[in-house]
Amino acid sequence: MGAQTPVSGGSDVAVNIPARRGPLSGALGLLVVVVLLSVAGFSTYKLFTAPPDAPAQPQFVEAICSVTLKHFSHQREAGENYPFYSPFTKERTAYPAEMCYWTRDGKAKSEPTYVLLNEYIKKPGPTICPDCGRLVEAHNPPPPPELMAAAKSGAPSQPAPAGAVNARSPNN
Ligand SMILES: [Zn+2]
Repeated sequence: MGAQTPVSGGSDVAVNIPARRGPLSGALGLLVVVVLLSVAGFSTYKLFTAPPDAPAQPQFVEAICSVTLKHFSHQREAGENYPFYSPFTKERTAYPAEMCYWTRDGKAKSEPTYVLLNEYIKKPGPTICPDCGRLVEAHNPPPPPELMAAAKSGAPSQPAPAGAVNARSPNN
């Protein structure tokens, strides 16, 4: 029970404890960061290099059976080319259909005629629409927008500007 030594050296011990934990947690933390960065980097790499493929989206094409000349919507598989499977012949006898929106008297209609191009079936000569008698080609252009708009709105038919069928003046 003599003179009590003043407690002064405690700080020496206290400093060493965090110093020993430091390197371990630092290395571990670094490892975690490196792993996370690699994962993030890899997924970013994949995101930018791989094209965004959307296999869930079914792709439909208007098709026409070359045997029955019937139209149907064909669900096209990735990379599939014609001839497509025809539900009418149960064979691959169908081709992409061209759409003709013309009527015989030079107006447009909202429901197209589906036409099979001659070139698909190796038939020589231009393809003529069986409904209106006009030329049909690949990526067949539709009638002018105003005619299409008139057809869609179901407007009453106006007299055709050229080649009117009406007799000019029956009583004159
Ligand atoms: Zn036509």
